[in-house]
Amino acid sequence: MKTLDRMCPQFNFDNSFARTFEGFFARCQATPAVAPKLLQLNHGLALELGLDPAALDSEAGLAVFSGNAIPEGADPLAQAYAGHQFGGYAPQLGDGRALLLGEVLDTRKQRRDIQLKGSGPTPFSRGGDGKAALGPVLREYLVGEGMHALGIPTTRALAAVITGERIYRERPLPGAILTRVAASHIRVGTFQFFAARGGVHKVRELADYAIARHYPDIADAKNPYLAFFEAVIDAQAALVAGWMNIGFIHGVMNTDNMTISGETIDYGPCAFMDTYSPGTVFSSIDAQGRYAYGNQPAILSWNLTRLAETLIPIVDSHKDRAVELLTDTLKCIQPLYEAHWLAGMRSKIGLKTEEPGDLDLINDLLWVMKDGQTDFTLVFRRLSQALRGDSNAVRCLFEQSGAFDVWARRWRKRLDQEGGSPEARAQAMDRVNPIYIPRNHKVEEALAAAVDRQDMAPFYQMIGVLSHPFDEAAGCEAYTEPAPATGIRYRTFCGT
Ligand code: AMP
Ligand code: MG
Repeated sequence: MKTLDRMCPQFNFDNSFARTFEGFFARCQATPAVAPKLLQLNHGLALELGLDPAALDSEAGLAVFSGNAIPEGADPLAQAYAGHQFGGYAPQLGDGRALLLGEVLDTRKQRRDIQLKGSGPTPFSRGGDGKAALGPVLREYLVGEGMHALGIPTTRALAAVITGERIYRERPLPGAILTRVAASHIRVGTFQFFAARGGVHKVRELADYAIARHYPDIADAKNPYLAFFEAVIDAQAALVAGWMNIGFIHGVMNTDNMTISGETIDYGPCAFMDTYSPGTVFSSIDAQGRYAYGNQPAILSWNLTRLAETLIPIVDSHKDRAVELLTDTLKCIQPLYEAHWLAGMRSKIGLKTEEPGDLDLINDLLWVMKDGQTDFTLVFRRLSQALRGDSNAVRCLFEQSGAFDVWARRWRKRLDQEGGSPEARAQAMDRVNPIYIPRNHKVEEALAAAVDRQDMAPFYQMIGVLSHPFDEAAGCEAYTEPAPATGIRYRTFCGT
C-alpha cells in the first residue's frame, strides 16, 4: 500500500476546451474534502483511458477523486451552458456542482472529459452548495455502468468517494463525489448559451469544435453545419430508441441534459419501467408527465428543434434558406427514430429480415402487454424460452394469456417464414433482451444500505450483476424480478 501511495497517477491531460473557449467557462477549484474515502474505482474504465488502476487505487488517487489534489496537467473549470428546463428557458445554468479536470486521449485515441461531480460550489452554483449526496452518486454509478453494459451510449463512472462531510437536503446526508467520464460535456444547452452570449461567431467556433471532436468525417461535407445537425440527430435518435428498447426513462430530458455526442447524461430521477405503460413517470418533479416513457421520442424532436434554432445563422447566410434546410432536416427525426426503434424491436422478437407487417406485429405485442400489465423486461427475455419449448414462462406473465396466445401464433408464423434454428434465434434474442437491469427496488436497496447502514455490500454485488446483463448466472435470481406489489408508487427525486 505504501509504495502505491507514492505513485502519482499520470493523466496526460490535453485540455482543448480550456484552450479554445476562454470566456465561456470559469476556472475554479474543488472544495477540499475533510476525510475522503474511496468507495469504488472502475479498473476497466481506467485501463480504457490509458490510466494505471494501481496508481489510482492509492492515497494520491483518492486525493484527485476527492478534489484534494489537482493532478499535473489538469486545468479545472466549470462550463457555462443554458437550457430549456421543463419547456422554460433558463439563460444561465452551467456546472454548478461539477468541475472539469481536463481531457485525456483514451487507448482508442478518443478524447474523453474527466469531471468531478459534487466537488463544491462554482460561479454557476446559483445558491446551491455544489455538493452531491452519496445516494445520487451511487445511483449514477450503478445505472450509468448498467447502461454501458446494456450497450447504450453513456457517460461513465471512474470513481466514487465519500467526502467525510455531511451535506444538507431534507436531512443530513453523507457527501460524495463521482468522477464522471464523457465523450464531452457539450450539450444542446451549450449551443444555446453560445448563441445567446457569443453570437454567430461563437456558435460557429463551437460547431467546428464539436465536429472535430465528435463527427470528424463530416468536416468536408458541402454544408458541414447541416451535416453536423444531421449527425447529432442520428446519434440522439439512436440513443432514445435504445432507451425505449430497454424501458429506460431518463426523467429530466431538459436541453441541458442532452449531449451533442449522443451519450446519455445526468442520471437524476431516471428509472427503468417495470410494468409496461407508455405513460410511466417516476420523477417527483415531473407532475405533468412531460418526460414520461412514451413522450421521450417527441421530446427528442422538441430538444433538437432548440438546437436547430441556434444553428440558423451558420447553416446559410440567408435566414429563410437556413430555416428551410433545418426544417426539412427536422422532419427526418421521427422517421429516423422509428427506424432505429423498429430495428431494435425486430431483434428483440428474433427477426433478422424486414417485412411490411413487422411494425403492426410489434405494436400489437405492446398492446397485449399494456392490457396484460406485464413486466416489460421479463416479457422480452422470456420470449426466447418459448422458442426453446417453454411457452408458459412468458404466457404466465399475462393476466389473460389468451390475447398473448393469439399474438404468439402470428409471431411464430412470421418466424417460420424466416426459417433458421430456433436455438440460434433464442440465443440471438438473449443477447439483446437483458435479464438483469438496474431494477428500481434493487437500486434503492443498495443505496439505502450504503447511506443508512454504511453497508456497501449490496452496491458491490449489484455492480457485479449489472456487468453481465444478458448472461444468466446462478445466485442472481433476486435481480430478475419486479418489485413486490406494495401499492406504493415508486418515486425518484432529482439527485442533487
Ligand atoms: P440537473 O437538473 O441535475 O441537470 O441540474 C440543473 C442545474 O442545476 C445545473 O446547472 C446544475 O449544475 C445545477 N445544480 C444542481 N444541483 C446543484 C447543487 N447542489 N449545487 C449547485 N448547483 C446545482
Ligand atoms: Mg444537468
